[in-house]
Amino acid sequence: MESLVNPHVLQTTPYKPGKPVEDIQREFGLTRVIKLASNENMLPIPANVRQAICDELSQIQYYPDSDNYFLRRRIAEYNGVEPDHVIVGAGSVEIIQMLIRAFLKPGERVLTSEKTFSLYKSATIELAGAAAFVETPMDRDLRFDLEAIAGAIDAAAKIIFITNPNNPTGTLLPAAAVRAFIARVPDNRIVVLDNAYQEYVDDPGDYLTGLDEIGRGKNVIVLRTFSKVYGLAGLRVGYALAKPEIIAVLNRVKPPFNVTRVGQRAALESLQSDEFRDRSVRLNRANKAKLFSQLEALRLRVIPSQTNFLLFFPAVDIAALNLRLLQQGVIIRPMGGFGIPDAMRVSVGLEEENDFFIATLGRALQELKK
Ligand code: PMP
Repeated sequence: MESLVNPHVLQTTPYKPGKPVEDIQREFGLTRVIKLASNENMLPIPANVRQAICDELSQIQYYPDSDNYFLRRRIAEYNGVEPDHVIVGAGSVEIIQMLIRAFLKPGERVLTSEKTFSLYKSATIELAGAAAFVETPMDRDLRFDLEAIAGAIDAAAKIIFITNPNNPTGTLLPAAAVRAFIARVPDNRIVVLDNAYQEYVDDPGDYLTGLDEIGRGKNVIVLRTFSKVYGLAGLRVGYALAKPEIIAVLNRVKPPFNVTRVGQRAALESLQSDEFRDRSVRLNRANKAKLFSQLEALRLRVIPSQTNFLLFFPAVDIAALNLRLLQQGVIIRPMGGFGIPDAMRVSVGLEEENDFFIATLGRALQELKK
């Protein structure tokens, strides 16, 4: 088979998502399984969004609007830009793939930090081969080291991903640092600000949304998603903001009808009120603080996080720990695939889910340390 395959594809590692609840129920014969593995919002979606989804079902024999007209208009309004600054994708993952396809020429490279969202790497390698992807070390506090990234910008470095706050470390870069970094990047490069977790940031006053840079004509692409705070991960809707010339290029590689009718309708409805978003952020903050101290009480190193997840270092064999957690019905994420083999990431769930996770983790750690 290998001789049939595009050699770049052979260099990729398949993305390993958090295991679905149904898999673990089947595999271990469990009824109660909690999944805190993919940074979803565990609150039920608001009634108006649920109703919009149901209403849309009467239309699904028709293809969706390929142009996402109404959703783009609403996203533009929400962000204070014009609709020609917006493109919508089947999750921001699809836009990551689109922008690499659209802008990476042969011989050029994608540059980012180590220990970040692994899709930048696989999307680059499948298109351009392993040599087209470069990552720099993080600083000691597990933050993007913008000095290191700036120092790695050579003639070939074309697309630069900055994940802020970062997945999986949860760490944040202050506005001034990102702003100064963007100012240093030569004009013939593209800076992607992956702001998937923007809503969770503690101090929005010290956060770089990227909108000013876009307004000033910079080659900046901002990525946002409905999968996190809006609770629509299962519908796959994300978007990018950029200047119209960039959006026009991305539209050339956008697959037609890429966002479903139900996805467009639900995302649009989600932006009609901030109540659910704000309630979700408040609940996350409280639950995260409790979970953080529970992990610390187990004497584990935990990284302070500005997101809806926590990275921690269990100090035991990760594969053995993960298996024990799965057997007890707890799905979290070992971080080998993200370049941190001694860490695990847990999403902040509802209080009872977090408590169940902590109780299960506490028991598993005791058994493994025996
Ligand atoms: N960027 C980051 C940093 C993420 O963590 C994720 C989801 N794990 C995504 C993008 C993709 O999100 P989606 O495709 O669901 O919009």
